[in-house]
Amino acid sequence: MTIDRRAERQDQVRAVLARDGLDALLVTHLPNIRYLTGYTGTAGLLLMRPGDAVLVTDFRYAVQAPLEVGSSAAVAVDQRNVWERLGRVIAASPASAIGIESATLTVRDAERLGALGRFKVVPTLDVVERLRATKAPEEVAAIQAAAALAQDALAELLPSVRPGETELDVSARLEGALRRRGSEWHPFQTIVASGPRAALPHARTSTRTIGRGDWLLIDFGAQVDGYCADLTRTVVVGARGDEKQRSVYELVRSAQLRAITNLSAGMTGREGDALARDAIAAGGYGEAFGHSLGHGLGLEVHEAPRLSPTADATLPLHAVVTVEPGIYLPGWGGVRLEDDVYLAPDGPRCLSDNRTELLELV
Ligand code: ZN
Ligand code: ZN
Repeated sequence: MTIDRRAERQDQVRAVLARDGLDALLVTHLPNIRYLTGYTGTAGLLLMRPGDAVLVTDFRYAVQAPLEVGSSAAVAVDQRNVWERLGRVIAASPASAIGIESATLTVRDAERLGALGRFKVVPTLDVVERLRATKAPEEVAAIQAAAALAQDALAELLPSVRPGETELDVSARLEGALRRRGSEWHPFQTIVASGPRAALPHARTSTRTIGRGDWLLIDFGAQVDGYCADLTRTVVVGARGDEKQRSVYELVRSAQLRAITNLSAGMTGREGDALARDAIAAGGYGEAFGHSLGHGLGLEVHEAPRLSPTADATLPLHAVVTVEPGIYLPGWGGVRLEDDVYLAPDGPRCLSDNRTELLELV
């Protein structure tokens, strides 16, 4: 039985309400609703107030919502119009200022909310996201379990990869292996990019036939208890790597290792990013590493904190982040390696296996 942290998390939100002079926070971002109540449905509005929490949802979740939410929130099911129902919930306890999640609530829905009463609609940013960045032990364990599952699926896949099959063939087998092992979903579209297409950092898996000696970049995830793992491995198919492949690969690998071993809570996202970026720049490929080093990982595959050249925020203790440097050379291909790292009190701990010695599938 895992520890139920919902009341504790809601208290932390209420402390923000008190600090900011808000009578309520309307939580609309579904991963935030899940974090605060356990609700996993795809539609819902959670009104957090000093004295209560009310989840408004529709007929599809009439059975599921009360089961998942338990005593963490009252559930109001409306078969016709959830916004009207929300209006009645709000009216029961008059408010003068209600916070919204400005990063995700649409303009249309903010207008709907504003039309429900004579209160001020106040934009807030990352109230729940900031709490989610600090992981409890069972959250870290779930990410680690997702990473283990992903690694097992990859280990099943790789020995079967052959020149002559397509990226989609490979992706289909990998996704099957992930699901058979219990991954709840693919947290993002699996990337299988071969040959020159490996130079596209977010390639769409295609019908391209994998050639002998091609790079094969595989970026994929797994989900366990709602928590995501996110891994990238780059291998050579059907041949030994040539000299350039080896040297680029080793540079990415050493940059990644430098970041994984030196990351720590308290440094800024920019300082974390620089651990790998400086190493790649020193190797002469600074221009070829055009994305940020990593992102937080949890109920969402991209969440706080960020490791990037523009991230001023400090990395909190107990955060989980990806470390994913890459070098991309248009026309030639690319290499990215990605592992998931927990910022523990005694230093960084890799939750994935970081098995990154160059694999040549011959
Ligand atoms: Zn990834
Ligand atoms: Zn990632």
